[in-house]
This record gives sequence, structure tokens and C-alpha cells, in this order.
Amino acid sequence: MTPRSKMNETGASLRIYNSLSGKKELFTPIEAQQVGMYVCGPTVYSNVHLGNCRTFISFDLVYRYLKHLGYKVRYVRNITDAGHLEHDADEGEDRIAKKARLERIEPMEVVQRYTVDFHKTLAAFNTLPPSIEPTATGHIIEQIEIVKKIIDAGLAYEIGGSVYFDVAKYNTTKHYGVLSGRKLEDMIHNTRALSGQSDKKTPQDFALWKKAEPQHIMRWPSPWGDGFPGWHLECTAMSAKYLGEQFDIHGGGMDLKFPHHECEIAQAEAINNKKPVNIWMHANMLTLNGKKMAKSTGNNILPNELFDGSTELLSKAFTPDVARFFMLQAHYRSMLDLSDDALLAAEKGYARLKEGISRIEQLPESQQSSVSLDSYIASYYRAMDDDFNSPILIAALFESIKLVHLVEKGTETLTKADIQKLQETVHAFVYDVLGLTLTSTNEQNSYLDSALDVLIELREQARANKDFVTSDQIRDQLLAKGIQLKDDKDGTSYTLMS
Ligand SMILES: [Zn+2]
Repeated sequence: MTPRSKMNETGASLRIYNSLSGKKELFTPIEAQQVGMYVCGPTVYSNVHLGNCRTFISFDLVYRYLKHLGYKVRYVRNITDAGHLEHDADEGEDRIAKKARLERIEPMEVVQRYTVDFHKTLAAFNTLPPSIEPTATGHIIEQIEIVKKIIDAGLAYEIGGSVYFDVAKYNTTKHYGVLSGRKLEDMIHNTRALSGQSDKKTPQDFALWKKAEPQHIMRWPSPWGDGFPGWHLECTAMSAKYLGEQFDIHGGGMDLKFPHHECEIAQAEAINNKKPVNIWMHANMLTLNGKKMAKSTGNNILPNELFDGSTELLSKAFTPDVARFFMLQAHYRSMLDLSDDALLAAEKGYARLKEGISRIEQLPESQQSSVSLDSYIASYYRAMDDDFNSPILIAALFESIKLVHLVEKGTETLTKADIQKLQETVHAFVYDVLGLTLTSTNEQNSYLDSALDVLIELREQARANKDFVTSDQIRDQLLAKGIQLKDDKDGTSYTLMS
């Protein structure tokens, strides 16, 4: 089945909410059948937090569905390993350099450590790796070239080794604020006077290149002296390099809309005189127990604490699969609140879905189908074509599970071909599009159960033969691995010690 025939079958096609227009728009890629997508990646100075994971899972869903529709997608997601200062500002310490100073290690050790953590965590959530994952430090030359071009266009100025984007001048012919819906006059009106430290003409101007003070260790030579790139610049440089001056989709967390994405638009428009991105997508936030997640208040759970249950905020551990299902039960543009109750409910729901799916292949075959299977399948596409509406897709999948039960009872019938089609399509949407996996704790536990049954049986035999050396050896070695055997009148059971 070719992707186009899938679309024709449903009569629908993909609409995406564009933050730039504030509307859902029919998706038409610049090049037929190809999509260029850029998503702002992490600043690798600490462990990735769950809110970020939600953003990357949201764009993983987008990537997966585009691929499912048959598009050839080039998905670029950067690693910010320099230039991102504290408080997202133009003054202050580089986040990575600060961590390196505090931990007395090299900045690149910080980058390596947290890049590895980021990849490990996203792999646990079963997100697909991007096609290209460029780093800011790997693209200093490209960034310097862009600064030169913006200066040549008369929209940036150099002061004392730093280069700033001239927002007021840009705004005379373009609109700085086009994405966030802000007006420059309002921004100026609402800003306090510049502190003496800054050499900018106006507070809205942002750094393209910053002079490195002597103590700044992450520095590169440039036409303006030793320095480092401004945070917004890397995404303009890397998206243009790998996706061209104009590309289809740019995504990121809601918090990046302003100023980061606004500045990206201004930089690209300044040198190319055209809008760099057709569709801007922003994923919403994740809160915890109704409040913002923050390390400082303790209202925070790290991904590994979620997976191993080592936090007082949760009653137990949850698999990454359950957490992913929980996140996909909300639309990516909606706020989502994480809580123990919500995760427990998601765990139950997900188990019910998987249990239902496992019954499809055993359904009784009939000569005729009493329902239109295509209308069920069309509802999956309708959901995802409506701005990647995963909660509606999940509801549609549960409708199909209801059908499975009705066919089992004989209330409805399906032909062999329809049963097979249902099986294939449900699998495609659950595993390929939603990116959920087949393994679960229950399945893993059933393997563990079987393996331990064998060991318990061997221990019983040893005891019956009065071979206490062997029976004790089995018990002690399991205990050393964190598995405790317990004998009582009903026989032997085991518990996992955490
Ligand atoms: Zn970015």
C-alpha cells in the first residue's frame, strides 16, 4: 500500500497547527514527498528533564507519522554545547562552562556526559534518532559567516568585540515579533533601562557574537577577536546548512517561541529576505501535581526516578512505555499534568489496549464482515491528520478493541482478510506511529516467573535428596542478585528486593 493510496482511502490529508498563522494549515511540503524538519535540541549541561522528554516525544510522533505517510523526512535536531548563557540572556556565564567550573572538569566532559544521558533517556522512551544531530561547536565557521552577512546587510553592529543584531533597524522593514505576536514598541516600553554592563544600543538587540573575557574558556577566533556565538545563531546556521534557506517544519518547546525562535526568524530573514520556515510547531509543557516542575522547589522527577520509582512523589516505578503512553494521551499543544494517579491510570489503560490487541489474531473468521473495517481505519488517519491528535487516535484504537470483543462474542463478524488488515493497521499505529513497544513489565515478569520456577524446582529436588549445599547455593546466589526466596506452607515464592 503506497502512502498516497492510504491518504486517498481516507479522503483526508494532514493539517498542522502553525504557530506563525495561529491556524491549522493543510500540509504541503516544499518538495513533493520530502520533508525537512528541524527541532531545537537540548543544552547538554544537566540531565534531561521530563518536560524536555515530552517535547522530544511529541516531535518523535510527528516524525513517525510523516514517515508512516511515506514522506522521506530529514529530521535535524541539534545539540547545544556552547553559547547558551544562564537565564537565556546575553550576559552571564555559559551554562556548560559553569558546570565545568563547578565540577572541575573540561567543558567537553560536561557535554559528553549529558549528551550520553540524553541519548540513553530518549532511547528508553523509544524515540527514533534524528537524521542529523549537529553541534554548535561543530559549526562555528558557519555561524561566523552568517554574522558577516548580517553585518553586510546593515542589520548588525560591532561594539568592543561583540556583534549585536539591530532589532530596531530590522523592524523598520520587517516585523520583529511576527511569531510571538509581540510588538517592538510594547517590548521597548516594558523594558527597564539597560544596566551599565551592556553595550547594546537597545535592550531588544541580541548577541550574534560575544567577546570572550579572559576567564571564558570556550572561545574561538573570529574577525571581531576571540569570542563565542550567540545562542540563537546556531539553529539558523545548522538548519540552513542541512535543510536549506527555506524548509518545511521547525519545532521546539513552547518556551523557545520567544525570544529564541523569533531571533532565528530575524537572522534568517536578514540575510535571505524570505521566511525560513513554513510551519512553526510548539509543544506544550509538562507540570507535576498541578505545579511547574523545578529542582529548586523539589517538585521535580527525573526520568530515571520515574523508571525506578526512587522518588517520594510516586507510589511505584513506571516503565518508559507507560510514561510515553501517558504523554501521548494528551495532545502535544495541551498542557499535561503528571501525577501518580494519572500514571497508574495510564498503566491500566495501556495494559487494556495491549491485551485487546493480542486477541485480534485469534478472532473467529467469517465469510462476511458485518462492519466496515475501513471506517475504523479511517478514524485513525482522521485523528492523526488533524494536527497529530494522538489522544483521539488512542480513543479510536479503543473503539477497535471494543469491536474485537464484539467479534469474539459473535455479535459482529469479520472476514479473514479484514482480521489481518485490522491486525496490521493497529500494529502500524501502535508500534510504528505512537512508538509504543511490545515488551511490558508483565511480559518481562512472566519470563522471570518461568525462569524462577525452574530454579525453585531444582532447589526442591536438591532438598528432597538432602543435598543442602546445592539448595543453599541456589538460595544464596539468587539473594546476591536481589531475588529473595521465601518458603511457607504453600511452597516457595520469590520477591525482588529493590
Ligand atoms: Zn534552536
